[in-house]
Amino acid sequence: MKLISQHLIKDSNMKLLYNAIYNNSGISRAQLAKMSNLSKTTVSTLIDELITRGFVYDSGVTDSNNVGRKPNSLHVKPSSYYVVVFSWLENNINAYLIDITGATTFEQHLKLQDEDTYVSLSRKCMDEDILALVSRNQILGVCVVVSAMIDSLNEEIYSTTLSLPKSEGVNLIASLKSTFFEFPVAVLEDTACSAYAEKAYARVTEPDFAFINFSRGIGATLFIRNQMVGKADGASTQFGHYSVDPNGILCVCGNRGCLEAMMGESALAKRVKAEGGSPALNRLPAITYATLGNAALYGDAVSQKVIKDFAHFLAHALANLISIVNPNLIILGGKSILLGNLFLDEINKTLQSTGFRKMVDSVTVEYSKLDSNAFINGAMKYFFDVHYSFTKDSSNSFFIG
Ligand SMILES: [Zn+2]
Repeated sequence: MKLISQHLIKDSNMKLLYNAIYNNSGISRAQLAKMSNLSKTTVSTLIDELITRGFVYDSGVTDSNNVGRKPNSLHVKPSSYYVVVFSWLENNINAYLIDITGATTFEQHLKLQDEDTYVSLSRKCMDEDILALVSRNQILGVCVVVSAMIDSLNEEIYSTTLSLPKSEGVNLIASLKSTFFEFPVAVLEDTACSAYAEKAYARVTEPDFAFINFSRGIGATLFIRNQMVGKADGASTQFGHYSVDPNGILCVCGNRGCLEAMMGESALAKRVKAEGGSPALNRLPAITYATLGNAALYGDAVSQKVIKDFAHFLAHALANLISIVNPNLIILGGKSILLGNLFLDEINKTLQSTGFRKMVDSVTVEYSKLDSNAFINGAMKYFFDVHYSFTKDSSNSFFIG
């Protein structure tokens, strides 16, 4: 067997064991062998390495009264290894240090000043704050999460929500590579990270599901047979630019009637106005999904009408999505939850008379059970599962998606 494939197998087995311990704290080596179909000797050798390197610990005899004895009891070790996640937003960066056991150890919200670039401000935060808390070798990698389509071929980021000065926009990825040269770095798309969080933390067991994200735009990530379609680069679908009305509102992309133009958060004020305005919303400085959902809940007829219209747009798009990829579960995440039960009920009602019956009838549409920041942990977990390697020094590696 070639050395390279031996390394890959070892890495994949170590991840399998680490994640099994993460999901079943207190599991024994014997149980791990049974669960993973690996031999007891292989499990013991790999667990010894995970313990030596500080990823896992064995709490040994756990009963303090010495009555009964657990042969061994394995747990993931907190405060050992971390992934740094930078969420780049419009004029802002949110920085997080996430323990690979899931805990957020550090969080900072930074505002871009005149002289800052996304890359320079992220690096400053790394040097001044993050590296003051943990050492370089405790950081497994750096994730930059954007709400954008990332073109891995041309190494470019396409986004309408980032405020990129020309100088930085062109060489963003090159600049990121050279500035964080000593770390493995991954640029990831936010919807894919949220979808990965559904898989990893909400423990979605349905092998074919679609995750629809309402954040700065509207996006979708698909899982087919337990695998994410494409990489976490936002390049596999542009669900937000699915047109639900060829004669509809003009979208920034140049097409008409895109979901984002028809029901994105920035389109709300226009929609409410088109319905004649609402006394419940008129006094507010901005209309958001939260204020719209709230007004509808308390009986505002215009808000209810707008939410029902949104449900019809989305149901139309979902019916078409279902006829192409036939998922059994559709999870609505991000800010969609703020539109309340009226939105979800109306989508389900509309789907009863829309789309290809045999497929639509077997689909469940539900809200995510995670909060809208789940993409941060999703990014960490995606990086660990997909890009981190136990068997290879990947510092200086760069990943798109
Ligand atoms: Zn569009």
